Amino acid sequence: MMKMNRRTLIKALAAAGATVPMISPLSARAMSSNDTSAPKVVVIGGGFGGATCAKYLKRFDKQIEVTLVEPKKTYMTCPGSNWYLAGLVDSDTITHNYSVLADKHDVNVIHQSVNAIDAQAKTVKLDNGDVLKYDRLVVSPGIDFKYEMIEGYSEAVIDQIPHAYQAGSQTEILYEQIRDMKPGGTFVIAPPPNPFRCPPGPYERVSMVASYFKKYNPTAKILVLDAKNKFSKMGLFVEGWKQEYGDMITWIGAMDGGTVKKVDVATKTVYSDYDTVQADVLNIIPPQKAGKLAFTAGLTDDSGWCPVNQETFESSIHRGIHVIGDASIAGKMPKSGHSASSQGKMCAAAIVSHFHNWAMPRPKNVNTCYSLVAEDYGISVAAVYEMKDGKIDMVPGAGGVSPSAGSVQQHKQEADYARGWYKSITADIWNS
Ligand SMILES: Cc1cc2nc3c(=O)[nH]c(=O)nc-3n(C[C@H](O)[C@H](O)[C@H](O)COP(=O)(O)OP(=O)(O)OC[C@H]3O[C@@H](n4cnc5c(N)ncnc54)[C@H](O)[C@@H]3O)c2cc1C
Repeated sequence: MMKMNRRTLIKALAAAGATVPMISPLSARAMSSNDTSAPKVVVIGGGFGGATCAKYLKRFDKQIEVTLVEPKKTYMTCPGSNWYLAGLVDSDTITHNYSVLADKHDVNVIHQSVNAIDAQAKTVKLDNGDVLKYDRLVVSPGIDFKYEMIEGYSEAVIDQIPHAYQAGSQTEILYEQIRDMKPGGTFVIAPPPNPFRCPPGPYERVSMVASYFKKYNPTAKILVLDAKNKFSKMGLFVEGWKQEYGDMITWIGAMDGGTVKKVDVATKTVYSDYDTVQADVLNIIPPQKAGKLAFTAGLTDDSGWCPVNQETFESSIHRGIHVIGDASIAGKMPKSGHSASSQGKMCAAAIVSHFHNWAMPRPKNVNTCYSLVAEDYGISVAAVYEMKDGKIDMVPGAGGVSPSAGSVQQHKQEADYARGWYKSITADIWNS
């Protein structure tokens, strides 16, 4: 096996999808040289950020003892969950488990929830009462919702009015409701204000629900009541909606009163300045904040997200704890699975560098967000990121969006790339 040193770490990081052109000053705190016990890293959350970080910690340095704590035995990805709603993939295709991480990469996987972190004692407490000690902790808990921002909506009613913004049982409920909707009924979706998980996610959902209705409920209508005035890839989505679905979809932005303020759960009625509308199927995606654990562990600031050193993802509040993925404030990087996974790799490199007292490699990062407008109609946005004045910023002129008025061939190609992206990133994280 290849022996890891800083040069091979840089090579491994580059092979994992990041470029590493610069060297930063030596990490201030390394393991003491006479400490011969294997350093322990606990990673909380087995989603895009946490599972990637756990795997790459072991890839970069086999000696580190890595424990991944995740309550779910199987993880349904949000990416692909809109395709599932349309009936384009089955649930097995977008559901993964942790056996490769455990068996092949020697990650100690524990299926529990963490209910407390003690940053002073460097311990985490699990739901079953067990306490784990760590030298470094990685927290990737994803998101939580500000239900209270919409009167009448709460966690208690999400089985009637699903958000389906954490994939799993919520996705299944929305799937059934779409299929049970009466002919010619109205599907109302309320996307959240910024910042939120997956900026194109609600609009790909609109597209995928429309593609299902086009086949099985062609007189159905979709009303998008948006809390924003514009959204990711807006021009491309609107162009595709017109072309593929005619006048099935109506989008109302915040400037026209689109923000949903109140919901009557029993009648599925939504109240906004635009109108009072009774939905047949109602999909509210509430405003968002960092996952619960980030709050209980005191890792959030007034914004409701976690401030970090954007190079190493070490918390600006608690030293020795790194926060990655949607919960972190990661400069210009969007809250996406691709970003979370890139951050997992950067964070793994930062921790390995810290243990060895190596200078932290300084990578460039990439994020690509593909969306399907229809089964064979894909669009994308891509960007490259680098550190600038202590923050993650976009590299000017790198990346871009799909061209408007693309050809049938281009749309088909991008749809194939979207499916390819899904296969390769999930293989990288959970399956290889
Ligand atoms: C509809 C939709 C479509 C999307 N499509 C795309 C796409 O095409 N491309 C893309 O890049 N991104 C996409 N995303 C975004 C992507 O899903 C998220 O950005 C990504 O999952 C973030 O990863 P994470 O690790 O931060 O959080 P998650 O992936 O949500 O992982 C968090 C994990 O932490 C665990 N956890 C939480 N609390 C605890 C605790 N106390 N103890 C232990 N474990 C805990 C949870 O069980 C969960 O498994 C989409 C999102 C949605 C909703």
